[in-house]
Amino acid sequence: MRRVTIFGATGSIGQNTIDLIARRPGAFRVIALTGGRNIALLAEQARQVKAALAVTCHAEFYADLKAALSGSGIAVAAGPAGMAEAAARPADWVMSAIVGAAGLQPGLSALEHGGTLALANKESLVTAGPLLISAASTHGARILPVDSEHSAIFQALVGEDPATVERVVITASGGAFRDWPLEALAKATPQQAAVHPNWAMGQRITIDSASMFNKAMELIEVREFFGIAPDRIEVLVHPESLVHALVGFRDGALMAHLGPPDMRHAIGYALNWPERAELPVARLDLARIGRLNFSAPDPARYPALDLARRVMRSGGLAGAAFNAAKEHALDAFIAGRIGFRQMARVVEHTLDILSDESGLADAAIDLDKILAMDRLARIRAGEAIEKQKVNDLR
Ligand code: NAD
Ligand code: MG
Repeated sequence: MRRVTIFGATGSIGQNTIDLIARRPGAFRVIALTGGRNIALLAEQARQVKAALAVTCHAEFYADLKAALSGSGIAVAAGPAGMAEAAARPADWVMSAIVGAAGLQPGLSALEHGGTLALANKESLVTAGPLLISAASTHGARILPVDSEHSAIFQALVGEDPATVERVVITASGGAFRDWPLEALAKATPQQAAVHPNWAMGQRITIDSASMFNKAMELIEVREFFGIAPDRIEVLVHPESLVHALVGFRDGALMAHLGPPDMRHAIGYALNWPERAELPVARLDLARIGRLNFSAPDPARYPALDLARRVMRSGGLAGAAFNAAKEHALDAFIAGRIGFRQMARVVEHTLDILSDESGLADAAIDLDKILAMDRLARIRAGEAIEKQKVNDLR
């Protein structure tokens, strides 16, 4: 029986993972589940899959979780110590589905046990890609991509020689505001941004899809995960979200991966790998769909893409600064403190300041430097907002 742990079990990816695990009783032994404030759901999931340990990342919810699981025999923990306890228990397969940079440390700990890390948390690759890749090789662990585009690339590469890859194309739906006039974007609200045309996902990644910060992070993720040169990675707007990625080879062949917009495909592929098991996802009827559309992204509408290219050129600590500034800008947008288009200005301004101040292209990175840069970039992004440095797009 494979031992599995899910970080971020109560989120969108986490719930889909539980769904797949619950469909195969007896195949998995659930070591630990972690969640946040949704104690009722976490307790229900822990009972459903008979987890050995349930953890809320918020220490103040310990008593609630304890009460919700009383009599179940399931161990309960909370706060940073609880998260560390979940990370310390060895598992063969760990799902990293916390949102944000908070997913980095649990992912690194999981790699130390040498099993498989199914990586949905793209922020950890953006922030600390080289660290994760080297931790995996040091401990004989494996990282499998869960982001749909990266799973698609991974699948298109099976049996291929990486040296023959000419380019990689990831697709983007264009998000909630794809068809809005540019002028209207400045007034877009968080509620409007949090509706995705095709995918059902958490609030933060959905807003990042509207701004294409999600795609920007995915560009960096391709770079870090597959080691593809930045100028060989392209983004294509594809409103139907049925083609997830394409890999172009040196003989001109382009291998596309198609599937319905259902994360259970990518999660299930990583869960069952190297086996391709049956999955409960809809089958595409291409005759009925009839037509697929593609276009180049407009850089003025999606400035996040150029920022990602800047980060890839820089390397070092630029990814940590970029991700932290983006998280801060997203918090400020959700709180109504800045407008939709100002998010990219905040990130750009923060990268400018930090490049002058500390130099971001530091070749030798380690966890301490990354965490320090994460903190500093949040402070600088906050100052940029306070000092109204980003007001021109209001
Ligand atoms: P979500 O907001 O639905 O869930 C996030 C989970 O993380 C919850 O369980 C929450 O309790 C937990 N969490 C939040 N902050 C935490 C913290 N500081 N410490 C510990 N736990 C914390 O998010 P999601 O949409 O499931 O996305 C999860 C990750 O997967 C993100 O990195 C996202 O970019 C990536 N991803 C998601 C999708 C998708 O379809 N939702 C697709 C591709 C990649
Ligand atoms: Mg994706």
